[in-house]
Amino acid sequence: MASLEDLIPLVNKLQDLVFNTIGSDTLDLPQVVVVGSQSCGKSSVLENIVGRDFLPRGTGIVTRRPLILQLVNIPSHAPPKSAHPTVPEPLSTSSFELGAAATTEIHPHTRINQPGQYEEWGEFLHVPGQRYYDFSQIRREIEIETSRIAGNNKGINRLPINLKIYSPHVLNLTLVDLPGLTKIPIGDQPTDIERQTRNLILEYIAKPNSIILAVSPANVDIVNSESLKLARQVDPQGKRTIGILTKLDLMDHGTNALDILSGNVYPLKLGFIGVVNRSQQDIHANKALSDSLVAEREFFSSHPAYKNISHRCGTAFLAKSLNQTLMGHIRERLPDIKARLNTLMGQTEQELASYGDATFTGPENRGALVLQLMTKFATSFVTSIEGTSSQISTKELCGGARIYYIFKQVFGHSLSTLDPVANLSIRDIRTAIRNSTGPRPSLFVPELAFDLLVKPQIKMLEPPSQRCVELVYEELMKICHNCGSPELSRYPRLQAKLIEVVSDLLRERLGPTSSYVTSLIAIQRAYINTNHPNFLGAATAMTSIMEERKQKDKLDAIEELRLKSIEESRQAAEAAENDKNSSNSNDKNNDKNKKASKHSKSTSSDTIASTTANGSSNAVNGSIIPDSPISTASNLSSAAANGTANSTSNSANGGKDSFLNYFFGKDNTSNNDGASATSAASSRTLASANANAAGAGSSGFDYLKKQPDLTEEDLENGEESLSEKELFECELIRRLIISYFHIVRESIQDQVPKAVMHLLVNFSKESTQNRLVSKLYKESMFSELLYEDEALAQERKKCENMLATYREAAKIIGEVV
Ligand code: GDP
Ligand code: MG
Repeated sequence: MASLEDLIPLVNKLQDLVFNTIGSDTLDLPQVVVVGSQSCGKSSVLENIVGRDFLPRGTGIVTRRPLILQLVNIPSHAPPKSAHPTVPEPLSTSSFELGAAATTEIHPHTRINQPGQYEEWGEFLHVPGQRYYDFSQIRREIEIETSRIAGNNKGINRLPINLKIYSPHVLNLTLVDLPGLTKIPIGDQPTDIERQTRNLILEYIAKPNSIILAVSPANVDIVNSESLKLARQVDPQGKRTIGILTKLDLMDHGTNALDILSGNVYPLKLGFIGVVNRSQQDIHANKALSDSLVAEREFFSSHPAYKNISHRCGTAFLAKSLNQTLMGHIRERLPDIKARLNTLMGQTEQELASYGDATFTGPENRGALVLQLMTKFATSFVTSIEGTSSQISTKELCGGARIYYIFKQVFGHSLSTLDPVANLSIRDIRTAIRNSTGPRPSLFVPELAFDLLVKPQIKMLEPPSQRCVELVYEELMKICHNCGSPELSRYPRLQAKLIEVVSDLLRERLGPTSSYVTSLIAIQRAYINTNHPNFLGAATAMTSIMEERKQKDKLDAIEELRLKSIEESRQAAEAAENDKNSSNSNDKNNDKNKKASKHSKSTSSDTIASTTANGSSNAVNGSIIPDSPISTASNLSSAAANGTANSTSNSANGGKDSFLNYFFGKDNTSNNDGASATSAASSRTLASANANAAGAGSSGFDYLKKQPDLTEEDLENGEESLSEKELFECELIRRLIISYFHIVRESIQDQVPKAVMHLLVNFSKESTQNRLVSKLYKESMFSELLYEDEALAQERKKCENMLATYREAAKIIGEVV
């Protein structure tokens, strides 16, 4: 238990703690209310507790208005010429002086206000701003103020007088002095004076937070005690009532109050305490309070009845009891205060932690702090990219995942939507072909035309590729800007610098990455590799065109046969009916042959077939035709097997020309409508169609005009309509462009992300830390970099102070228990 001397500083600390630190709550010390009948000595007791003469006392009714006396503890100011240490300790008043009893032992005279030593004073609520340093003036003001409201003629008034006593020697405590209970109205008093006073008293003592000092004069039988009667009404168990017996010196000789004081007469948990106040005579004689306390002590220690219990008697003991009661009250409040304090400490610690480590703020640690924050920033940047960051968002793609998304979705999609032959009309193709042949007649589909045409198409891959670089760059920028931490936000300049350095690094990398990607496209355009294993090749392209034509021819041939058989049966019927002579049958056969030859508009396919069978398809150097797939050759030769092997064309061309030459014809007459085809070849073509052979030669290029990718517009825009050979060539080139474009696109789609990762992402990732260190880790920059955000620094300081206060408070509480 705290000793008496500890109570003032302790209560002060706790009070400060709950008022100023915890803020919301108050320690809420009980108020002490003095009750008793008139002239029983209430004011005298109160005065003794405060230790100063300042209350009007006397016979008859003196206290006629409630006096609410607030004791306010203030720091002790050492007098200028005092021998005391010059540095005062405001909150650790060494002497406990709740009661004057203690004063007598320590410095009995320091309590008297010397001129110029304004250590204690009083203030009235009704006289704002005026300090009463002379306590006798306080008494006079109470008397004047009492009369002002309650009149001069013994009247009482419930309107309280509020007085504050400021002193380093008092507890923060509220004491209430009340008019005494009387039975018979006198003077101006109303007839129900007893009831009115009783109600007034009850009003104050009913508060559970008040300690009742129930004063009874010892020279009146205790069973008639009005104060105990009242106290019992509001505190039936006697838990907060202290019984006080005054005027023990005035008891009849031979009688004593030992029984009462020993608690044998009336049960009160806090017991009875006997006191001897100054008599009216003493008051008249201006007997000092300190002297009366000495006399009181002598009285008890020398009294035959009381000397054995003298340690439990007197004003000093009353003060001690009051202290214990107050301590008990404080203890009851402690668990609440403790819990609240712990919560506050936890919160403040957390807040403080969010401002960063305070131990680094010293100048010798600045380098370490810069390095630490730098490393954190760099790590955060890297982990965001790698996807190992602890703060991965679940709401949206971030960091590395965004980069993958850019590669896969954005870049991938923009490439796949590219049309390989965009902006490439049939006319463009034809013009390219014509230009590439120069003044000579077009002999083969030349490599030059394909090169010429495919290169701009490859160029189309560049914008999406560059866009991909930019998007990843932007994403890295975003990541870099999001790498801050609450800790870092404490140093806005450092944060800005970190972002700046990494941004610079990224920007530096943008150039090389972008130009590398440009190179990738340029590389693709630099050499058109028609030997690429996935490249369609002219032969395959042609085969597929011819396959399509063959399908169409078959359908045409079947239709032809169907029509023919209908015609034949019709003619047969006609002949049978009209002319029974069989000599006309030869004419019919001739008609049949003519009809068939009309469908044959192109160069003869059997010629091509036989050439292929001779194995000379790759003979022409400079042609774009790669190795001819075996399937093509066998398809074509199957046609030859069905046809006449020894055609005249075959022998004329020999084995050294490519089948393309044969296909398109060796001379510029190849674009005629197939008039050169022999009727024999024509009839054989029909026969082979019937035999399910490859009848490639029977149809014209009309179908090309119907191909969906060759629009009417393309054809209409032509300066002159395209020949069938040209149409075929255009279609061939077109297909080859598409095939080659696919190959290049696949390669670009593969290589650009790799390049971006290597040159931009990984490079920045790996060099961030080094770059930051080399740019920012400079002694001369530390103070600039570690400039603290003013508002934040203040917050932090505030937080630190708070935490210190809370810790101090926790220490105080630890001391109490
Ligand atoms: P209140 O009316 O209850 O406030 O009583 P006061 O404090 O004004 O005292 C009334 C009178 O009783 C005063 O003249 C006091 O001097 C006197 N008195 C109070 N207590 C004692 C005491 O213990 N012994 C003696 N001899 N007189 C006392
Ligand atoms: Mg009084």
